[in-house]
Amino acid sequence: MTTVGVLALQGDVREHLAALDRLGVKGTSVRRREELDACDALVLPGGESTAMWRLARTFELLDPLRERVRGGMPTLGTCAGMVLLADRLLDGAEGQETIGGLDMTVRRNAFGRQTESFETDLEVAGLEGTVHGVFIRAPWVEEVGSGVEVLASVDGHPVGVRQDQLMATSFHPEVNADDRLHRLFLDTCC
Ligand code: GLN
Repeated sequence: MTTVGVLALQGDVREHLAALDRLGVKGTSVRRREELDACDALVLPGGESTAMWRLARTFELLDPLRERVRGGMPTLGTCAGMVLLADRLLDGAEGQETIGGLDMTVRRNAFGRQTESFETDLEVAGLEGTVHGVFIRAPWVEEVGSGVEVLASVDGHPVGVRQDQLMATSFHPEVNADDRLHRLFLDTCC
């Protein structure tokens, strides 16, 4: 059975674990390297990417995370998690590093400069109907490499992307009980 880790340094870890639980998938918190080693797939939650970056360094998890993600571990990043998956980051904090893996440039707090938080119904490639997107000081994707598929956009800015086994959203599919995005990740990336 697939074990999906949720990086549990900071952010909305519980919401992701609850979504995995509703889908009948084994989820587990990841704070240490041994816990990461025990996972087949990973979720990088929403929260604050600068805090997660600093804590990952402190806990000596940044390099192991990079190795696993670049080594092909299926990974879903939501909001701050999207920032962490970006190969290139704009408007990061001073010195801010990412895990990387997804060939995209992400602008941190991009929507935040226009409107701090908002909710909107989105069409997502591969899903029927619409998904209710909750955006909280959200990033957007500024530019993607040729291997990246854009799954959803707001005002022309990609807010959902997938590249092979990696998927990222600017919004928080974990905060409402609609688990289709997690299902899509499990079905198409894992
Ligand atoms: N603005 C946050 C960051 O840079 C992301 C916000 C969120 O995850 N809701 O990490």
